Amino acid sequence: MTAELTELIGRVVAEAEGEGLWPAGLAVAVPGLVARDARTVVRAPNLGWHDTDLGALLPADLPLTVDNEANFGALAELWLEDGTPRDFLHVSAEIGIGAAVVVDGGLLRGTRGFAGELGHVPVRPDGPACACGGLGCLEQYAGEEAVLRAAGLEPDEDRVGLLAGRAAKGDEDVRRALRDAGTALGVALTGAVNLLDPQSVVLGGELSGLAPWLLPSLREELARRTAGPACPVSVSRLGPEGPLLGAAHSVVRAVLDDPAAVAERA
Ligand SMILES: [Zn+2]
Repeated sequence: MTAELTELIGRVVAEAEGEGLWPAGLAVAVPGLVARDARTVVRAPNLGWHDTDLGALLPADLPLTVDNEANFGALAELWLEDGTPRDFLHVSAEIGIGAAVVVDGGLLRGTRGFAGELGHVPVRPDGPACACGGLGCLEQYAGEEAVLRAAGLEPDEDRVGLLAGRAAKGDEDVRRALRDAGTALGVALTGAVNLLDPQSVVLGGELSGLAPWLLPSLREELARRTAGPACPVSVSRLGPEGPLLGAAHSVVRAVLDDPAAVAERA
């Protein structure tokens, strides 16, 4: 997998240089736990990465930033969207489910950098076993594979596209599976909302494509369970590209923050 990534980076850098552009840095959005050194992927079960130091494996001639894809998605909301609140939760999904916690305009990372693992918040304490070692985690009810399974579908290359296509056509099994996933998301988010009191919850990344079928039950569950007034839930307008935009803009912002450091390398 890292060999494929290196090959892709080589191709993109060559393309950029062919157009007379100069790559200023490399940012990698990962669906998994990233250490606070911003280069080590501690655990990304869906990629098969475990204590993987991307800094040692990828080309060393570009400054590297590795972060969780939900974190990059949240940064994209902060940097690129007008009117984004300074306190919000950004929930996104690829195969798993991740979240970013934004407090006072900055990411809450936690001691080791692992904050926001919403996918492993228990929804039912006696539920099915999860790869993390827990039982009944949110991912077991609202992850793409779990939803496909609940709808009686085989995994496809484009899981979200398959689910959204079927749901749009009125497939009742898929709609029910997505409703149940929305309920599970609402249960897990209740804990986060009660604990952190954010101004809003934003559904981003691939989850945004399923929002029409997830949102009604998610909102209902969250409103029913939260202690205070219902927390608004919105859908990212950046869509599935959000995390990638956040990654790319993190490089641009590093240049703007310290142009002299870049000039030295050029
Ligand atoms: Zn888990």
